[in-house]
Amino acid sequence: MKRDIKSMDVPALEAYFKSMDERPFRAGQVFKWLHTGVKTFDEMTNLSEKLREKLDSEFFITVPELIEKQVSKLDGTIKYLWRTMDANAIESVVMEYAHGNTVCISTQVGCRMGCAFCASTLGGLVRNLAPSEMLDQVLYSQRDAGKKISNVVLMGIGEPLDNFDNVIRFLQILNHPVGINIGARHITLSTCGLPDNIDKLGDYGIQLTLALSLHAPDDETRSRLVPANQGVGVGALIAACERYFEKTGRRVSFEYAMIDGVNDSPHQANLLAEKIRETGGHLNLILLNSVSERDLKPSGNIEAFTKILKQKGINYTIRRSLGGDIDAACGQLRKKALNDKE
Ligand code: SAH
Repeated sequence: MKRDIKSMDVPALEAYFKSMDERPFRAGQVFKWLHTGVKTFDEMTNLSEKLREKLDSEFFITVPELIEKQVSKLDGTIKYLWRTMDANAIESVVMEYAHGNTVCISTQVGCRMGCAFCASTLGGLVRNLAPSEMLDQVLYSQRDAGKKISNVVLMGIGEPLDNFDNVIRFLQILNHPVGINIGARHITLSTCGLPDNIDKLGDYGIQLTLALSLHAPDDETRSRLVPANQGVGVGALIAACERYFEKTGRRVSFEYAMIDGVNDSPHQANLLAEKIRETGGHLNLILLNSVSERDLKPSGNIEAFTKILKQKGINYTIRRSLGGDIDAACGQLRKKALNDKE
């Protein structure tokens, strides 16, 4: 069985070359080549033919194939649908912001978290993505879009903390000075909240921004919207966010999709303010993207809701929605392609 070389970080490559009695600087050379998007070892022209053949006999290089691309006429947002080597479809989105170009990447094929408003979880989890497949979304989106990517958000399909080891290795590869070199402060990881893994992530001390998809301040509503809340609870999650801050010095930010008649009452605004005030974390309000399979509607109460937050001194932003014309809520592009195939 050949191994996936793009999923190896620099120390792993160094260990490999050492075991081959090759000079350790080969690791940096190969790592650099992989980041140029080479598809074969033959393209690595500063390695001997013998070494290229040896690598080719032991490793493969992942190459995603572009299935579909949609470009927004409104704001230039680009949605990509890629085919992995085992014919799964994964989605990435490139967005332009004042602070730079951002790519939103998927971390799993499908998702098993079962959130009530999310299109990505409808077919369940197919498999985890390898570090190489997360990296490819950055490399190939950047190359196709012809725009330098400066920020990466792990907010596409999948739950990053449910694919913990691969996500950590991907972050280490993404961060490496010889590779694409995106600093941790330019990376955001969004989670539906798995407190044990929030603790584990905190132990690495990586300076990324952790975003918690909170969506409700009370357990009854949150457990209905985000099943992973069952047996955990908002209190335990907020406590995990506070520990994360203590370990990393980085405040957690909160995401809250406003849903009509579900999580947008004055009582919930007050409770939300009470729960997150102590954390000092920023609140991102998002208007729910309607998903055709789901019977949930975007809230019409944002004004009354935010008035209460303001009174309580909570810092919030109403997130601008990009790519409205190519839209379909999170994960719908892949879903549409799957439906077409059926
Ligand atoms: N599993 C991770 C990351 C993927 S989802 C998480 O749960 O955070 C990225 C963000 O999009 C999450 O905040 C998620 O709750 C939100 N989201 C999913 N479906 C949505 C929808 N229909 N409308 C608005 N936000 C949605």
